[in-house]
Amino acid sequence: MIYLKTNEEIELMRLSNQLVGKTLAEVAKVIKPGVSTLELDKVAEAFIRDNGATPAFLGYGGFPNSLCTSVNDHVVHGIPSASTILKEGDIVSVDCGTFMNGFVGDSAYTFCVGEVDPAIQDLLRTTKESLYKAISVVGDGVRLGNVSHAVQSYCESKGYSVVRELVGHGIGRKMHEAPEVPNYGKHGSGILLKSGMCICIEPMINMGTKNVIFEKDGWTIRTRDRKPSAHFEHCIAIVDGDVQILSSFDYIEKVLNETAINY
Ligand code: MG
Ligand code: MG
Repeated sequence: MIYLKTNEEIELMRLSNQLVGKTLAEVAKVIKPGVSTLELDKVAEAFIRDNGATPAFLGYGGFPNSLCTSVNDHVVHGIPSASTILKEGDIVSVDCGTFMNGFVGDSAYTFCVGEVDPAIQDLLRTTKESLYKAISVVGDGVRLGNVSHAVQSYCESKGYSVVRELVGHGIGRKMHEAPEVPNYGKHGSGILLKSGMCICIEPMINMGTKNVIFEKDGWTIRTRDRKPSAHFEHCIAIVDGDVQILSSFDYIEKVLNETAINY
């Protein structure tokens, strides 16, 4: 069942999601060659708790950390580790969730570590652009399949592939609520979106094959052909008929611009 939120509840969701954006900006400040993904996790957990919230991922289904950190061919759900050291030319997808005032925030961004191959930068740019293309079609009375199709058609037109096994989701008091929000689908299919719905749209886009492998650690998902994968996620709401982005990349991109490592 889809839980519709009141405008007051959506304001609380906005607070949780803005904190995710600010947390990812703190993470952005420390991403560089030589840093471990566990160090990123520690920065995020401390910042979330300092702001009166709880890391939503920590303990979720037994997940051991506050961030998912997925490097290069890892698509999503990578476990932060002291032995995973970022190096020049890597990309790292950082997914973050917060719980505050009874509501969850959830957003993700893929970062470059130092100088990254322009072809991989294009994958990141395309994945992020596909997210905004999907958001631009959201509104009262729009079929969910139109949103899914927007991601798929854009990314496939650029020669990239869409992961099928993982999807976006409704969100609210719980991190994962109905409906599922696939990154692939047909125009005109699916449920009708309406005011009060909050969903996370999160394209997971591969440079090569769409096929993925579930690693033995029980969490990490990687591309079958070991080519890179990118992940960007926003939490959005439909408020009085129109889409609003509750999360934000503004804090992140301010940091990236200041450190000249934006792409
Ligand atoms: Mg997420
Ligand atoms: Mg999500």
